[in-house]
Amino acid sequence: MKPAPFDYHAPETLDEAVGLLARLEHEGRDAKIIAGGQSLMPMLAMRIARPEVLVDLRRLRTLDYIREDGTHVAIGAMTSKQAAADSALVRARQPLFHAATELVGHIQIRNRGSVGGSFANADPASEYPAIALVLDIELVAQGPGGRRRIAAKDFFLSLMTTSLGPSDILTEVRLPAHPGARRWGIQEFARRRGDLALAGVALTYDLDGSRCRNARIAAFGAEPTPVRLGAAEKVLEGKPAQAATFEEAGRAAAAALEDPMSDIHASAAQRRDLVRTLTTRALADAAARAH
Ligand SMILES: Cc1cc2nc3c(=O)[nH]c(=O)nc-3n(C[C@H](O)[C@H](O)[C@H](O)COP(=O)(O)OP(=O)(O)OC[C@H]3O[C@@H](n4cnc5c(N)ncnc54)[C@H](O)[C@@H]3O)c2cc1C
Repeated sequence: MKPAPFDYHAPETLDEAVGLLARLEHEGRDAKIIAGGQSLMPMLAMRIARPEVLVDLRRLRTLDYIREDGTHVAIGAMTSKQAAADSALVRARQPLFHAATELVGHIQIRNRGSVGGSFANADPASEYPAIALVLDIELVAQGPGGRRRIAAKDFFLSLMTTSLGPSDILTEVRLPAHPGARRWGIQEFARRRGDLALAGVALTYDLDGSRCRNARIAAFGAEPTPVRLGAAEKVLEGKPAQAATFEEAGRAAAAALEDPMSDIHASAAQRRDLVRTLTTRALADAAARAH
């Protein structure tokens, strides 16, 4: 199928883009931002999305950067995911985000798809939203009211819905630098390499001697939004980093899911079971990785 007709604008500056979106909102026109088009184009082609106007961010080169910013790594929203995967700075300063990036789709998708697009799209099966919860990533948005920072826990509201308003542009993603000794892991299950995951788990924890501390665990692909698995985090606190603990935490993670999704790809029970196995594996993988 072909997309329904739409008007098209490609503003040259961020201010121009924000002004244009605000004007279109004021006129009551249904406008949609397009970045890399890797999620939006299929939705347009299938006419699941039928915006009257597309506002293309591709000329906003000022949103294409990766830089160190004090205790954070700042990534411009229009930076391609492959640029993040290729970045020595991202790999060194935030290895969990780097590993998650390498799991996104194929190189063609990562070349075209923007970092910001994956956060704004808020697909429940996407790796980044879960990573955002684990790492306390900050999102920076620019809208008619100015610039604001949004904590990850306040950003993902429901299925493919964020706290961005219709005239807001996500401009930057801010990753806290990874403390060197912190353990991290990410595991997912997809039917084919590069597919969106049926379920996945990302986590970090510290080792105090041989005991686990400060675990942060989030699941993706399991519920309509990424979810922190607090019950599994509690199980780990103060326990020895060993197989029996990781299995207990896996069971707690599965039980912590409130309402797993069920669709043609996997049942709720399969997703719950995947979260159990993937949590156990990610914990063990994190413990085994050399530091
Ligand atoms: C075959 C295939 C496999 C894939 N596998 C994965 C995978 O494993 N993991 C994964 O996470 N993703 C996967 N994707 C999705 C891909 O990562 C997309 O690149 C990403 O979801 C959206 O980024 P984009 O730049 O293409 O955004 P677009 O498709 O252009 O936009 C997506 C949505 O975000 C909004 N948006 C985009 N940028 C901004 C912004 N700066 N401010 C405000 N709103 C914005 C748009 O309005 C739209 O609603 C896959 C896609 C395909 C086609």
